[in-house]
Amino acid sequence: MAHARLHLICGNCGCPDDWTWEYCADAILDYDCNPVPDVFIRCGNCSTLHSLSDKAINRKFLIKSGG
Ligand SMILES: [Zn+2]
Repeated sequence: MAHARLHLICGNCGCPDDWTWEYCADAILDYDCNPVPDVFIRCGNCSTLHSLSDKAINRKFLIKSGG
């Protein structure tokens, strides 16, 4: 991973560099109503809360469900 190039840009205000994040172990429910974790990323400019699971699949959830 010599040149990782992940960029975060807020879809609401366009802010590229004012972020905080929080891991939540039981943020959402899977198809069987079991709690699964998510990461929430907050834009410091407009305070919008973004869920990482909206844009990326949780790898542990895929393994658990056989995907
Ligand atoms: Zn924003």
